Amino acid sequence: MSGHIYQGKDLTETTQTIQADVCIIGSGCGGATVAKQLAAAGKDVVILERGGYYTEADFDQDELNMNGKLSNNRSLKSSTDGGTLLLSGNNVGGASVHYWADTYRTPDDRLAHWAQRYGLSGHGLAELSPAWNELDGVLNVHRADEEHHNRMNQLLRDGAKKLGWAGNAVPQARKGCVKSGHCMQGCLYAAKQSQLVTHIPQAVALGARLYADVRAGTLEMQQGKVQRLQCDVMDRATNRPSGRRLTVQARQFVVAAGGYYSAPFLIANGLQAQLPALGQHFGMNPTAWAFGLYDEDIVLWRNIPAAFGVEEFRLARFDAAHQYQEGGYLLMANQVQPGSLAGTMPLVGDEIGEWMGQARRIGSTIIWLDDYEEELGTIGLASDGSPKVDYPYGPVTQAMLRDALKKQVAMLFATGARKVLIGSAQRILLDQPGDLSAIDRIPVSAGGLFMAAPHPFGGCRMGTDPKTSVVGMDHRVHGFSNLFVADPSVFPTGPSVDPSFTIMAFSYVAARHILAAA
Ligand SMILES: Cc1cc2nc3c(=O)[nH]c(=O)nc-3n(C[C@H](O)[C@H](O)[C@H](O)COP(=O)(O)OP(=O)(O)OC[C@H]3O[C@@H](n4cnc5c(N)ncnc54)[C@H](O)[C@@H]3O)c2cc1C
Repeated sequence: MSGHIYQGKDLTETTQTIQADVCIIGSGCGGATVAKQLAAAGKDVVILERGGYYTEADFDQDELNMNGKLSNNRSLKSSTDGGTLLLSGNNVGGASVHYWADTYRTPDDRLAHWAQRYGLSGHGLAELSPAWNELDGVLNVHRADEEHHNRMNQLLRDGAKKLGWAGNAVPQARKGCVKSGHCMQGCLYAAKQSQLVTHIPQAVALGARLYADVRAGTLEMQQGKVQRLQCDVMDRATNRPSGRRLTVQARQFVVAAGGYYSAPFLIANGLQAQLPALGQHFGMNPTAWAFGLYDEDIVLWRNIPAAFGVEEFRLARFDAAHQYQEGGYLLMANQVQPGSLAGTMPLVGDEIGEWMGQARRIGSTIIWLDDYEEELGTIGLASDGSPKVDYPYGPVTQAMLRDALKKQVAMLFATGARKVLIGSAQRILLDQPGDLSAIDRIPVSAGGLFMAAPHPFGGCRMGTDPKTSVVGMDHRVHGFSNLFVADPSVFPTGPSVDPSFTIMAFSYVAARHILAAA
């Protein structure tokens, strides 16, 4: 039996009620993977997605158009201090439709840490490896080959060798990539193996029904059991409720609204009173970046974004007295289309003219910070119902970001950059690698560093104690018999690498528990 993808325009009745075995909120890496697993096991699955359904026919490779369609709030939503942009998806397939397709397995050391410090069970190598082995085939995961190293990635690889920093070609989820460089605008060639071209069509072929433009709202609960979910059909043009409503009756409900939305959704449904850890222990892999001006063409906006990754600094190093020394991030080539490039370089007047006049010669690097677990933030609900992210940027986090900037400067100069520009509000333009003290003076706060955060996690931490965690090892919300969470909200810390493959493998585990609980 084949399912169907409905869109808001198909839902013409003022009110409509639908039934399913399992209702999944969110169609990203977490939700789509669970949906596929449950549909394959014969469950009648309904997936709800607040955003629109866009396919290759809609992907015009225009960064402004596609940002509006695929990126939540056009990538302009920020943390409460205005300092960090919160990047996520708002479309069928979620953030995977505009992601970079870097597909790392969770490192063994991080899984061991989660087990030892946070008591996680059932989410170790033994449970996740079979999922990854299967997913390797589903997403065609393979290390980026030579052809897919653009000039910036070649430079990064050469630079790492020169500096003695460990690194590797990055595992990629791609099939037949034509090197257009429009990964963040949605892949017109269906080569990037996002959820839109993998788990979603697979789940639908197995009978799942997906409702796009439908925002999950109120959970109707009775004695620890969700009975129904009330939803708004959204008007895509205004991104506001259309006035039409959809009610879902299901045996089980899975919250997979992503790291920025699952905890706020449960808070909006009043669960914080009984689950004080809801919204706590939130992190987001904040990024900081730098630019280099070279004497050769780099063309940052072509080919794949991250073919080579510097892994030398993945884990933070501390001395015997637990003083931070260095590291705590992955360092990669950056990819920005020309419009964003002009908008993110802190230059004005003749200087921005000088740089953008040589736009093809601009290189850039970026880091994914592995959030320091003693300095995590919180996620709550703003008065307009949107997520409210408070992130402290504590002293160790600041030191990590400064170290990451210094390493990026070293890398850019080592690979031939004539000038290096820091992505900070102050104009910090360096013409030699020597004096980096200006980086120590950058305020790592709102209006200091330019930061974006594409990898949210936490807020619904996994654990056994309802006082300090939100879901159990079976992904079930404490105190509820039929309510589950399947996305990075459940992670106790960040996975220390890009998160999508960890999210998907966790969803395999979640799906097994949902089936067992049925
Ligand atoms: C620019 C960018 C590049 C990235 N590159 C990589 C990469 O190379 N490798 C990697 O591993 N990760 C990458 N990531 C991160 C990765 O894409 C995400 O971590 C992952 O896709 C998140 O999956 P998810 O299912 O948790 O959430 P999402 O993908 O955010 O999906 C959740 C979905 O739920 C929907 N939703 C929210 N609330 C509701 C509601 N109330 N009702 C109905 N639907 C709702 C949202 O619209 C969204 O579509 C990148 C992210 C960005 C932004």
